Amino acid sequence: MNDIEIRFCENCMVRTKHEIVIQPELLTYKRKRLYRCTVCKKESWKRGLRPSSEAVY
Ligand SMILES: [Zn+2]
Repeated sequence: MNDIEIRFCENCMVRTKHEIVIQPELLTYKRKRLYRCTVCKKESWKRGLRPSSEAVY
């Protein structure tokens, strides 16, 4: 069972439902996740939806 998030798809040029294909086990919001558009099936790496106020590396 995959998580679904509404993300902007660069292929569809609209916001679509995206499946999260790969998600890091640790909740590090610096990490990227692999999303797949449920409309065009295009996969793309995007950052999580957390605000990037924390710049600790
Ligand atoms: Zn798409």
